[in-house]
Amino acid sequence: MKCKDLIIKGKAKSVYATDMKGRLIVEFRDDITAFDGGKKDVLKDKGTYNAAVSAFFFEYLEQQGVRTHFLTMLDPHHMVVRKLEMIPLEVIVRNIAAGSIVRNYPFREGTPLDPPLIVIDYKDDARHDPMLNDEIIIALNLVTPGELKKIKKMALEVNRLLSSLLAGQGITLVDFKIEFGRQGRTIYLGDEISMDSMRLWDKKTGESLDKDVYRFEKGDVMAIYNTVARRITTTKKQ
Ligand code: C5P
Repeated sequence: MKCKDLIIKGKAKSVYATDMKGRLIVEFRDDITAFDGGKKDVLKDKGTYNAAVSAFFFEYLEQQGVRTHFLTMLDPHHMVVRKLEMIPLEVIVRNIAAGSIVRNYPFREGTPLDPPLIVIDYKDDARHDPMLNDEIIIALNLVTPGELKKIKKMALEVNRLLSSLLAGQGITLVDFKIEFGRQGRTIYLGDEISMDSMRLWDKKTGESLDKDVYRFEKGDVMAIYNTVARRITTTKKQ
């Protein structure tokens, strides 16, 4: 497979066309950003840790019947994926109150959210990813009501599967963000699922094992990403 023109360069990943129909290459770069791009760095090997964890989760989810865009890894930085028409929604599932839900609403950090909360933001950096509700999503014609129902169902299924997989490694899945796309009428899970897009707490120590370490300078980001990636990718899949 040949990597061709750059299609889009995001904050931490780049997407390339290929010489194969319906296939793209996602490059996981070593860039890391937080606070709407207000904090930026390049951390050697960060891309490979996120790519390895994403690939591991996508493979596991596929085995469990969740459709994802993942096909294979070309090398530790490059993932071959199905070409999707991406839906500009950031679908966040929260099991425990933390982050923006605590800043913006009167939740106390650490409060369990049972059933889990689904929060959907509009993916638009210029507007700072505003939170949507179902009516706005439909009025903006971003998805059909049927697709919205399917996306929420898939998000809860991903949460159920990954929460239990991570619990086996002594890790609490506090929250995460996923993105979806379509190929024809089929909805697939796209983008990535990595330390950049999840909030993970060590069950024993409560220590952050994710991008909060970078956001709030809680420790050596790359040492933690390296350890977590190893912990996750050596988990025995049921
Ligand atoms: O910041 P907030 O608490 O809303 O984030 C919830 C979850 O979604 C966190 O795991 C965060 O890393 C992820 N997220 C993301 N990309 C964004 C916003 C949030 O991956 N643009």
